[in-house]
Amino acid sequence: MSSTLYIVPTPIGNLEDITYRALSVLRKVNLIAAEDTRHTSLLLNHFSINTPLFVFHAYNEKKRVPVLLSKLRLGHAVALVSDAGTPLINDPGYCLVRSCCLLGVRVVPLPGACAAITALSASGLPTNRFCFEGFLPSRQRVRINYLRKIFNETRTLIFYVSKYDMLNVLRDMVVVFGSERYVVLVRELTKMWESIYRGVLKEVLDRVEHGQISIRGEIVLVVAGYCINKQKKREEMLSMEVRYIIDLLAKELPYRRVIDLVVKICGVNKNMVYKYLLKEEI
Ligand code: SAM
Repeated sequence: MSSTLYIVPTPIGNLEDITYRALSVLRKVNLIAAEDTRHTSLLLNHFSINTPLFVFHAYNEKKRVPVLLSKLRLGHAVALVSDAGTPLINDPGYCLVRSCCLLGVRVVPLPGACAAITALSASGLPTNRFCFEGFLPSRQRVRINYLRKIFNETRTLIFYVSKYDMLNVLRDMVVVFGSERYVVLVRELTKMWESIYRGVLKEVLDRVEHGQISIRGEIVLVVAGYCINKQKKREEMLSMEVRYIIDLLAKELPYRRVIDLVVKICGVNKNMVYKYLLKEEI
């Protein structure tokens, strides 16, 4: 284990989510670099681990990196943890890991809890491609501008949102993304009040404003990506005239002929005509 930095995720609520390997590493290393030592002590006490702690907070990260590096180069094994979840994911650690990479110090990441991935997995939104956006800017004008920049992003978007910003973030999203964009508000994951709310932005905002959705605790907001198909679909919507022609032909001809003729005459999408004939949603 010597001269190695271990990146150790810790639970985001439920202590049972710690892995066997994480516990084993936390026991064996010489030092645990932790964001809030009081917070991490609770976790360590729970699992009867008495490895010494080293304060490593976002505000002192740059100053503390050289100290940790010298310990690593002397042969120490160090575990990096944050208050909850995976270190470096909106938590301290980037400068340390970057320095280790530049200096050739071994870095070993452990897999484990991460609120973003946990929320995404239950969101019901596409998971094959997604963007982790972390926290949005807290100043409204900057936030609106940022949202405008990502308006066209087609991948599923994952945001961390503090309870103080939640209402304003939803309002700004309605303005920029439109009221119909689908969102999933995931709250207090792995904890007693874990809850998942789904709906279009205007609906979720309305429920939050009327106190039907609580925004207390910790929240991940998963937002559907911009849907080109929906846009295309809208553009391709069958006009009244086309529908009239389909209805007329359908009285006289089999569906296959109707589809062929309407596609040829009106130049519309074959599938749309088919769906219209079957009275499915288009
Ligand atoms: N490193 C952490 C991770 O891997 O998820 C994230 C740390 S970031 C400072 C804290 C934010 O993560 C919270 O404001 C919230 O958006 C999200 N978060 C953390 N724990 C959560 C939980 N149990 N349920 C929902 N969101 C959570």
